[in-house]
Amino acid sequence: MSETTQTIFSKIIRREIPADIVYEDDLALAFKDINSQAPVHILVIPKKPIPRLADAESGDDVLLGHLLLTAKRVAEQQGIAESGYRVVINTGPDGGQSVYHLHLHILGGRQMVWPAG
Ligand code: 5GP
Repeated sequence: MSETTQTIFSKIIRREIPADIVYEDDLALAFKDINSQAPVHILVIPKKPIPRLADAESGDDVLLGHLLLTAKRVAEQQGIAESGYRVVINTGPDGGQSVYHLHLHILGGRQMVWPAG
């Protein structure tokens, strides 16, 4: 098994560890962040184990679009579509990425500040 398929998120996809899953389809999974930074903090991940945004390829264009639309749907489901929310992808060391399985953070339910830290 490759290094990528051993991440905590791949274990969540395989149901080897528990998570509070709020959405799932053939391509994506969304679940609550274990260390929530806002009243709503959901992670949207592809089931395909792309480590970083920097590793995405041109053939991933449909999948990447699907992840954004999934974020939109999850925000609606969580009741923050109108109040607003932030979608974040941390990439690599300077981006603050800690889990090397591509993920979108959806943060909402409070006023966000800018610039992000
Ligand atoms: P990153 O820092 O890579 O952008 O974000 C990784 C996120 O994954 C963090 O916000 C962290 O709280 C979350 N996380 C790490 N391990 C787990 C876990 O086992 N379960 C869940 N639900 N979230 C996790």
